Amino acid sequence: MEFLAGSLLELVTQTSTNLPPDVRSAMSLAANVETPGTQSSQALDIILSNIDMAADDTGAICQDTGMPTFIVHTPVGVNQIRIRKAILEVIAEATRRGKLRPNSVDSITGKNSGNNLGTETPVMHFEQWEENEIEVKLILKGGGCENMNAQYSVPCTLDHLGRADRNLEGVRKCILHAVWKAQGHGCAPGAVGVCIGSDRAHGYELAKMQLFRTLDDVNPDAALAKMETEIMTEANKLGVGAMGFGGKASLIGCKIMAANRLPASFFVSVAYDCWAFRRLGVRLDAVSGAITKWLYRDPSDAVQNMAESAEFPLTGHEVALRAPLTEEQVRSLKVGDVVLISGECFTGRDAVHHHLMSHEPPADLRGAVLYHCGPVMLKEGSEWKVKAAGPTTSIREEPYEATVLERYGVRAVIGKGGMGPKTLAAMKQFGAVYLNAIGGAAQFYARTVKKVLGVDWMELGIPEAMWHLEVENFAAIVTMDAHGNSLHAKVEQETGAVLAGMREA
Ligand code: SF4
Repeated sequence: MEFLAGSLLELVTQTSTNLPPDVRSAMSLAANVETPGTQSSQALDIILSNIDMAADDTGAICQDTGMPTFIVHTPVGVNQIRIRKAILEVIAEATRRGKLRPNSVDSITGKNSGNNLGTETPVMHFEQWEENEIEVKLILKGGGCENMNAQYSVPCTLDHLGRADRNLEGVRKCILHAVWKAQGHGCAPGAVGVCIGSDRAHGYELAKMQLFRTLDDVNPDAALAKMETEIMTEANKLGVGAMGFGGKASLIGCKIMAANRLPASFFVSVAYDCWAFRRLGVRLDAVSGAITKWLYRDPSDAVQNMAESAEFPLTGHEVALRAPLTEEQVRSLKVGDVVLISGECFTGRDAVHHHLMSHEPPADLRGAVLYHCGPVMLKEGSEWKVKAAGPTTSIREEPYEATVLERYGVRAVIGKGGMGPKTLAAMKQFGAVYLNAIGGAAQFYARTVKKVLGVDWMELGIPEAMWHLEVENFAAIVTMDAHGNSLHAKVEQETGAVLAGMREA
């Protein structure tokens, strides 16, 4: 097995940095159907550029490199313990090289292990099979989309759709509801893997396994194939759009399976994956561990660029702002404005927000731009370098943000997916705005960071620490302003009305 570690390291690196062809095709189609000049179309332009940048530089497509989940099939007689050990070594090495963000956190102490290893991480499933080669498949699914997974126990009553019964019509309603509910929080346009039936735990697992199907395959079950097509059509009429900005591209894939269930239970489990749909696989020689074949991609096909331009498509109407910001500046902004932020901004996500409830900030946050981001950072010599730095899902900070705005005078919050009514009210009262950056565009935004000025609260772990970043022309869209307007609330309401029209198939 002399080549095993190298093969697995290449699998992890390619999965994190190079989207498979079926996902690229689906994203091209999504970009083509979107109306040019809309916010959703601008978001897709940035996403396509980001996909190119990641592949060109072998950098992480998204800073959230997710929970690595391996599915391994081995011929009878192959030593699975050895493969397990090799996977652990390779995950630590890929983390050290910045291909994976340190993502494994002790659930009791909150301590990040720093190398992506810990109890039950990474996730590994082993099975024997009757073939002669080893097969290893890997999916990297981030927290933002993982949080959008949903499980329904039917019969149940759904917002806008009414009762979902124990039949395919009820299943259809559950899937549409899950897509609608995700809005932009899971970095739409996304894809769903669905399991009808099974029990709660296995149903979720089987739903996730559907994400190992290619997006362009056809379900061998005629009834499920029909449902997959219909869901794609209906979901893309909802109007969620890229990042939940409102638009035509909401779903790039729907893959459904059915498993037997207990008579008393009827679960519909939905695994939601984002546009950064990172999944690849390899076949390995069972003696040497060398790669004999790639799954989902043909390495002899040159990777084609997806974006027409690597630049943010400027219209000339963008508002250039330099941090720190004044109350007057932020009150002059309104929903829909595109801003280009320069100057110092501070990262802060879950642990920073929690910490700020009982600790003074380590820096003066008056007028500050607070970026919901857990970057991938590498120390090169004595300097920290940003390797990936897209926004994280902001709604998790809803319990804290109003207090942060009031107490510390933050003027702009950058994140993705928007925030709730409490934050919106605080923005109006204290003078602040929410700026939606493009979720997953980790390479695109990393390039706007000109310098790492410092870091505080490093004991919270690299993704959770407060990084002081000097940015230049960081592009984002005002989606919540200081006048009580929220694009997120508007899109949710409008798409809810469309969903209600889908009550009957
Ligand atoms: S693209 Fe969005 S949802 Fe997907 S992993 Fe990245 S931040 Fe999370």
